[in-house]
Amino acid sequence: METHVLGFPRIGVNRELKTALERYWKGAISETELLAVGDELKKRHWRVQQESGLSLVATGDFSFYDQVLDTIAMLGAIPERFGRNDGNGNLVAYFHMARGNVIENTPAMEMTKWFDSNYHYIVPEFTPSLSIHLASEKIIEETRHAISLGYRPKPVLLGPITFLCLGKEYDGAKRWDKLDDITTVYCEVIRKLAPLCDWVQIDEPILCTDLPEVASSVFIPTYQTLKAAAGSSKLLLATYFGELRENLNLALESGCDGLHIDLAQGKGQLNMVLGQIPDTMWLSLGIVAGRNIWKTDLRSSLDLLQSVEKRIGRDRLMIASSCSLLHVPVDLSHETELDQEVKNWLAFAVQKCDEIKILYDVFAGDNRDRELLENYEALQSHRNNPKVYRKEVRQRVASLASDMLYRRSPYADRGREREKWLKLPLFPTTTIGSFPQTREIRSTRLKFKRGQIDSKQYEDFLKSEIRAAVKRQEKLGLDVLVHGEPERNDMVEYFGQQLDGFCFTRNGWVQSYGNRCVKPPVIIGDVSRPEPMTVKWITYAQSLTDKPVKGMLTGPVTILCWSFVRDDLPRSEVCQQIALAIRDEVLDLEKAGISIIQIDEAAFREGLPLRKNDHDTYLRWAVDCFRLTVSGVSDRTQIHTHMCYSEFNTIVNWIAEMDADVISIESSRSKMELLEAFKEFEYPREIGPGVYDIHSPRIPTVEEIKDLLKAALQVIPPHSLWINPDCGLKTRDWVEALPSLRNLITAAKQLRTEY
Ligand code: GLN
Ligand code: ZN
Repeated sequence: METHVLGFPRIGVNRELKTALERYWKGAISETELLAVGDELKKRHWRVQQESGLSLVATGDFSFYDQVLDTIAMLGAIPERFGRNDGNGNLVAYFHMARGNVIENTPAMEMTKWFDSNYHYIVPEFTPSLSIHLASEKIIEETRHAISLGYRPKPVLLGPITFLCLGKEYDGAKRWDKLDDITTVYCEVIRKLAPLCDWVQIDEPILCTDLPEVASSVFIPTYQTLKAAAGSSKLLLATYFGELRENLNLALESGCDGLHIDLAQGKGQLNMVLGQIPDTMWLSLGIVAGRNIWKTDLRSSLDLLQSVEKRIGRDRLMIASSCSLLHVPVDLSHETELDQEVKNWLAFAVQKCDEIKILYDVFAGDNRDRELLENYEALQSHRNNPKVYRKEVRQRVASLASDMLYRRSPYADRGREREKWLKLPLFPTTTIGSFPQTREIRSTRLKFKRGQIDSKQYEDFLKSEIRAAVKRQEKLGLDVLVHGEPERNDMVEYFGQQLDGFCFTRNGWVQSYGNRCVKPPVIIGDVSRPEPMTVKWITYAQSLTDKPVKGMLTGPVTILCWSFVRDDLPRSEVCQQIALAIRDEVLDLEKAGISIIQIDEAAFREGLPLRKNDHDTYLRWAVDCFRLTVSGVSDRTQIHTHMCYSEFNTIVNWIAEMDADVISIESSRSKMELLEAFKEFEYPREIGPGVYDIHSPRIPTVEEIKDLLKAALQVIPPHSLWINPDCGLKTRDWVEALPSLRNLITAAKQLRTEY
């Protein structure tokens, strides 16, 4: 039997990697110093795995930015704009790909979400002239390094089929034309690794998605070639983030010596796998969840192990994390401020390694009774805890009536009354919510957090910020104002901190991409809203102006998607609880005289399951949770929603189902995609396609904005069009935001004279 994790987080328990990267980019440390930090982190993480007692330690999983970018570097698949200077371990070229080359004005490679996680990878670019060759031996060097320190390494490669599927084709290139060259490099790498290790892990998470036909047809031949290169070392085909379903045969017939399956996100597949796995193939059981931070239920895991043993014996078993531990924080023992009781329910990466070893020991017949008992008691205390189980919340969800999903009148009828009431011009102008989070705002918040100023001083400061924001907007001539969100650090954390059922870690950082980390809130128990959260700020802003001020809330699906969610209730039910809490806030805002309320659902699309077959189930409950949030208001209250992407072609009908009166969306960077969606499906509501990209410091011209709007008017009727930027302005400076908004308003005014 073997024990292992599919990968370990690389950022370091105190985000050492982030700090080192940022100092290196600023020129404060040399490349040698950066490499030394990398070595230190690798060594530390190997030591954790060995000290836990795992039989293998993962190598090659460390990266200075991203494992897909490492694969690009390994294959020499460097886009031409970065030059051909791609020598082994050239960090300068490496970071240019990740971040662009400012001096030469070369844009970075695109970045996108890694499957359904919140990790972002660098998207491979396939062009006709791209030449593939072994250009970096990083994984081989790291594996040798681990051996020199006495570890038993298991190198981790991103598989060629997933790599090809995740890339994008340019200039008419056909990605599968590159397969032979890529396979050749993989063979070279595997041949060099083979003498160094018993196992090589090859990740093919793409097998847990709807596989393109070509990918299915080339899968087995490709793996037979790789297997031939592996000699006496064994290949472990790692799949995760879901079930293999119709792709199981590909995995079983790949010729790989072992198959890893995810039993956290793909538990349902176990029987099918056990029924079909050839009796020469190892099975790695991904029992310890790599995407959440709850303690593993050791007893039921042992039951599972025993039932597997009955079917296929124990000689060919591996006990493992479900996926790489990249998606969880590093070490729980650093959480010194966390409620002791809550802390006892959690496990971060270090603790997850220990859990794997305990499972192994008990399964192998060793006495770990103390640990088993502790685990049992921790789970019991979680289940029966008053922080977790709140009768009123459960009853409220249980008594939900379906009429709570409907606004009083259908959209067509409620519009008329509102028109009279809101008196908005044609093409109303607005913003998405946040204004620049200036240095002053951030430092004042910090002072308040540290107790250097009291809550009265902090509140006065926030009010002065809101006053300034309202004045600026009136002066600009915007039609629907916002308060600017100076009191919020983050659109989810701000609400989580005020809701019951959430808790926050001090150091629970998870890599989002490269040097960027996020610290997701933890939903530990039933969610409810003890008191109003935003009413004070929004009504203060409204008291300063005759123009309508939009109330600004984060939607239930987004709060869910950007948190670690309890695993003892279905996600849909947790989402209903959040929806009810936000619904209370919506109604309080309305009662306080707010006539327009925006519910941000930035993460709505990212919650989509990986398989098309599962989409509708998710979309049904996600849409219903949004409706539950907003449906209590009167007909004349206008509900907005905002989403940060425009690729909703396939879900436009569901977005219409949300029944928001107005939606604002990101679209300036990809206007064509948006318009495509509209051609196919007429969105029957008002819409504000973002007219400029807030991620860029560039100030859009009046002409450019008008051009975009005119293009939008080809498919959106004039009375349905709103004018707004693409997302919140919190990452911009006022020197960029003001002229951009001025141009936006000028464009709106000019356009009005033409209609
Ligand atoms: N209201 C939020 C803001 O303006 C929305 C942020 C988002 O969509 N990501 O910051
Ligand atoms: Zn946005």
